[in-house]
Amino acid sequence: MKVLSVTSECVPLVKTGGLADVAGALPAALAGQGVEMRTLLPGYPAVMAAVGKGKIVAKFPDLFGGSARLREGALGDSVLYALDAPHLYDREGAIYAGPGGADWPDNPERFAALSWVAAEIAQGAVKGWSPDALHCHDWQAGLAPVYLRQAGSDVPSLLTIHNIAFQGLAPATRLADLRLDQAGMNVEGFEYWGQISALKAGLTHATKISTVSPTYAAELMRAEYGFGLDGVLRWRRGDLSGILNGIDLEAWAPPYRNAKGKAKAKAALRERLGLPEADGPLCIIVSRLTEQKGIDLVLDALPHLLGLGGQLAVLGSGDRRFEDALRRAADDPNVSVTIGYDEALSRELMAGGDAILVPSRFEPCGLTQLYGLRFATIPLVTTTGGLADTVIDASPLAMRAGVATGVQVHPVDAEALRVALSRLDALYRNETAWAQLQKNAFNADVGWGASAASYAALYREMTGR
Ligand code: ADP
Repeated sequence: MKVLSVTSECVPLVKTGGLADVAGALPAALAGQGVEMRTLLPGYPAVMAAVGKGKIVAKFPDLFGGSARLREGALGDSVLYALDAPHLYDREGAIYAGPGGADWPDNPERFAALSWVAAEIAQGAVKGWSPDALHCHDWQAGLAPVYLRQAGSDVPSLLTIHNIAFQGLAPATRLADLRLDQAGMNVEGFEYWGQISALKAGLTHATKISTVSPTYAAELMRAEYGFGLDGVLRWRRGDLSGILNGIDLEAWAPPYRNAKGKAKAKAALRERLGLPEADGPLCIIVSRLTEQKGIDLVLDALPHLLGLGGQLAVLGSGDRRFEDALRRAADDPNVSVTIGYDEALSRELMAGGDAILVPSRFEPCGLTQLYGLRFATIPLVTTTGGLADTVIDASPLAMRAGVATGVQVHPVDAEALRVALSRLDALYRNETAWAQLQKNAFNADVGWGASAASYAALYREMTGR
């Protein structure tokens, strides 16, 4: 089985969020399932630097305003196709936005080009390797199933939703520029309230749809979570499934084996951040600082945590107002705030923290709670999306049964968060209970095994192979 993964980000080359981790981990995870996955990625500067003068395997003289080449490189043990299109990707700044922080105005074309080339590869553009199916990630790859349909190709496609809040909207006037047929500009196609939606295009044209947890799959069919696309998902519910993300167990192996080692990591973290000794748990956050992630709730509940004798260490960046409020909160000696993106520090936090707070309003899967489990850093989570599917609340029943791995917050508000923090603190102060939680977290199955098998089964269903 040959599958082309079509993605706008991928570790270790480019990352803004969880999609990058997933896209980077899938090829190796699927190799064990008899699936040969290759990855198509835009040729941003970091990608071109890695691929260098890699062999040219296809040429596109006119790709949305310029000429482009497809170059072959490596992603671990798998093949990477970098779309070398300087007019679209050779830019300073972040991958979706310019140095000023605003989205690139031609983002619709930049990712239409990615989708176009994916459809071309599906139709044989690369000599010697044609995929049996496309695996498209998020809106950036959403037009690929449309281009396949427009070309009359019957290569099946899977669209995976990593976050439905990002939809890739473009004004209807760009229809021809995006090489889309007028015939699709309707409610059953890619039209979204008068605009073109690349995500909706994928949802209406892909053979199958998946998202990154079973709970998020169910939530997406409800108006509160569907961002206007819940109706489309209800319509396609027969083709929709939820497959949990895993994490790379080797890349995310904790630097210790037991509680003693973890205590050492905690001491080192305290020293690095300048945090004093404390009676309560050291809580960490590694996150985009946005409303989705419930950062406002954490700010509200912070005095309560400090009152319990707890501490907070935050690493993240995002909305200005949250960055500013957190900086102010860091005036308290028991609060440490680092604004920025820092993979090494994120690992030190995971290793040294007692608990990780993830009080998201919605969370398709969430990866940081999985890292938390892997590092025996107890997750405190809301009961939405993948958070609900991966953390077992330390209820009296679950504690007696010996299966609890964390603490749940319900409903999603500051009062519930305060209650949950009190519960966390009480568990932390009960040595036996805490040791049990740490052991269960440490032993939780957070790898890719089961999910890779589910994807492979889905590809087989799509292709009939
Ligand atoms: P999302 O994709 O919504 O941002 P996820 O939990 O799925 O959330 O994935 C976020 C990924 O980004 C995780 O791998 C997390 O460790 C990482 N991350 C987020 N913020 C930072 C940061 N400031 N520094 C380092 N890593 C970060």
